[in-house]
Amino acid sequence: MTVRISRHGARRWRRGHPWIFRGDVDSVDAEPGDLVEVFAPDGRSLGIAAYSDRSNIALRATPIPLDAHREAGWQSLIATAVRRRHYRPEACRLVNSDADGLPGLVIDRYGPGISIQTTTQAADRRVDTTVNWLRRVLRSEIIVLRNDGRVRDFEALPREKRLVVGDTAQVNARVGQIVMAYDLLEGQKTGGFLDQNDNRMAAALFARGDALDCFSYDGGFSLHLAKAGVQVTAVDSSIPALARLEANARVNRLRIPSICANVFDLLRENDRQGRRFDTIVLDPPAFVRARKAGDAGRRAYKEINLRAMKLLCPGGRLITCSCSAHLTRPDFEQVVAEAAADARRWARVIERRSAAPDHPSLLTAPETDYLKVLFIEVV
Ligand code: SAH
Repeated sequence: MTVRISRHGARRWRRGHPWIFRGDVDSVDAEPGDLVEVFAPDGRSLGIAAYSDRSNIALRATPIPLDAHREAGWQSLIATAVRRRHYRPEACRLVNSDADGLPGLVIDRYGPGISIQTTTQAADRRVDTTVNWLRRVLRSEIIVLRNDGRVRDFEALPREKRLVVGDTAQVNARVGQIVMAYDLLEGQKTGGFLDQNDNRMAAALFARGDALDCFSYDGGFSLHLAKAGVQVTAVDSSIPALARLEANARVNRLRIPSICANVFDLLRENDRQGRRFDTIVLDPPAFVRARKAGDAGRRAYKEINLRAMKLLCPGGRLITCSCSAHLTRPDFEQVVAEAAADARRWARVIERRSAAPDHPSLLTAPETDYLKVLFIEVV
């Protein structure tokens, strides 16, 4: 179980990037999903990586020690990752793929439910062991496999979602002052968006007055704002998303009016009518989906930020997010800066935030720091 890589690949590995592309693989003696020892052209051992025979990313490094039993090493990384989150609340990410040394493995806890996603051959091959470990150690009684994302296609893994343990995928979990209902089979991603949890709580302290939550989905931001006494209206183009939001509002005894609309049109229309807000949240889907699609994505971010800034009262608060891994933090800030200049407003940054601490990133792989959030006072 060894793979030899090119000089270029070895240089990249030594700089600390955990991904080695297929073009840098010189020879392979391994099966798909093996945890292999990686060698430089001069014969020196570099470390252990998860091998894929399909994905363009052929190797993804893991910190399993060279002298450790590899399967035991993988298991112990899961245990360490879960232990590291012992202080986290009931809705949190327990394993965050590469950043936890477990390429392609995501484990999210939603109260009594666990949702697993495997996006590499290595993580997929070990899914039964992972499920057994979760049952034995965490005593999980509801476990769902959310392997329906399109990234599985790159690994030639079939798409599927299924309840593997338990008899319901409907769970509730507390997030700050709010109780959220999740459907682990039907909700987005693994059931919801846990990465914004801490930002939602911080946003509730920052927001005030009359607020608009754009791209609200099931109400993550709206619910926290409403609980803090902010008058918030939610906007999303998806009827099922707004139905979830309404159900969440009822459970928390909050009143959150919602509008089913395209945010781009709604912002323009509100501006035409001279409507003003004290707070606007912009948490759109990833507009930059690939490096190549950068310009169109940038324009979309600029457009909503420009429109939102125009709609804010003097001293208004903008909470603006980008979850595009292909848009760097400086690039995102540049786009928001251009929006402020075009809107002829001052944009005073009060806080720069990222994904919650249960979603660590790797310093040597900047794209793992995908979530950028700015709290801005617009003057
Ligand atoms: N803010 C949410 C997550 C947003 S996910 C949270 O805190 O959990 C992105 C959402 O944007 C989805 O619910 C999707 O339905 C919605 N959406 C995508 N494009 C849209 C558009 N042009 N107008 C309105 N909603 C849109």
